[in-house]
Amino acid sequence: MDEDLQPSHVDRLAIAKQRMIRYDLQGRDIRDPMVLKAMARVPRELFVPAEYYACAYDDRPLPIGLDQTISQPYIVALMTQVLQVDSNCTVLEIGTGSGYQTAILACLAQEVFTIERLEALAKRARSSLGQLDLDNIRLIVADGSLGWPGPIQFDRIMVTAGVQQIPGPLLEQLRTDGLLVAPVGTSSLQTLTLVRKRPYGITSQAICPVRFVKLIGRHGFQD
Ligand code: SAM
Repeated sequence: MDEDLQPSHVDRLAIAKQRMIRYDLQGRDIRDPMVLKAMARVPRELFVPAEYYACAYDDRPLPIGLDQTISQPYIVALMTQVLQVDSNCTVLEIGTGSGYQTAILACLAQEVFTIERLEALAKRARSSLGQLDLDNIRLIVADGSLGWPGPIQFDRIMVTAGVQQIPGPLLEQLRTDGLLVAPVGTSSLQTLTLVRKRPYGITSQAICPVRFVKLIGRHGFQD
């Protein structure tokens, strides 16, 4: 083919993103138009290491260094959809990782508070997020199993690393009638679980089996 007629690198990514939206998200059970819009808006290639640009829209997790991963697009969309985030919500995210999920949440929420344990990942996530037109994100480096420092509560909480049980401080920081989503199980296999805080206690709903890296911290797994 004439070189001028070959799709450019940018075109190839745009085509791959459209394919992801259509087949990997809409083709499964992602129906929320706001979630689909956010997934279309955020460039995943910005959040993956350069050697993975070409497969940025493959529906799989990819390595981001330090034995951590950027989550699979379908799971990012699913977790966002079940959390029912809207522009009135303040959201706490535990496990910033690459910052990709943070960006998706920030497209939908009033404000996103995100905590990453590893300084090097937080630094890279800050730089990637800084390239987007989003000014509603607060990112700190800390043990997220302890929650956000200080007396604050959130409408929604998303945990993006596996836990054996929901850390108590996170349940305390969830507002009554708020929603929390987390992978709950062992270090190698978890069930994506949606928790609702009611005035009389907690209800939880199993969504699907998932495999996440461990949440390491005081109320998580040991290092
Ligand atoms: N959602 C992220 C993305 O889109 O790139 C992927 C998150 S990755 C699967 C899980 C992240 O949780 C890792 O970056 C890991 O360092 C972080 N993590 C593990 N334990 C943590 C803790 N106690 N507090 C905060 N972050 C933690």
